[in-house]
Amino acid sequence: MSNFRIGFGYDVHQLQPGYDFWLGGIKLEHHLGAVGHSDADVLIHVICDALLGAANMRDIGYHFSDQDPKFKGIDSKILLKEVMKLIREAGYEVGNIDTTICLQLPKVNPHIPAMKTCLSEVMDVSEGDISIKATTTEKLGFVGREEGVSAYCNALIYKV
Ligand SMILES: [Zn+2]
Repeated sequence: MSNFRIGFGYDVHQLQPGYDFWLGGIKLEHHLGAVGHSDADVLIHVICDALLGAANMRDIGYHFSDQDPKFKGIDSKILLKEVMKLIREAGYEVGNIDTTICLQLPKVNPHIPAMKTCLSEVMDVSEGDISIKATTTEKLGFVGREEGVSAYCNALIYKV
């Protein structure tokens, strides 16, 4: 069992008009978009944090500072690719990841197959090892008021 390690990620981004809405590596058509230093893809950010956490390698902000102009507007898929490189260099491979997106609108479910395909290519991991779930918060809180989007991820990695 000592070859297995578990990690967890949590992230939030504001939703505002005039921004693109990147989620799970794909662009959603919506009148609001996610605000952030990068492309603000909350799902990719929690996957990065869960993988880094599992490997005990700090977090996404430690590796890709939001103060660094180099990362302004960057495609989060590039960050995820970089994280995969880091954990593989440390001798780990992904067992599986399980994620939940919390968003009031638009509906996420129709987009999940495309997100899984995209993320499996970026991570070079089988689609069967990437779970994406979606929930509203029943109109409660900042997610329910459509002020933001949040996500959670658990990741299992193992020493190759
Ligand atoms: Zn983020």
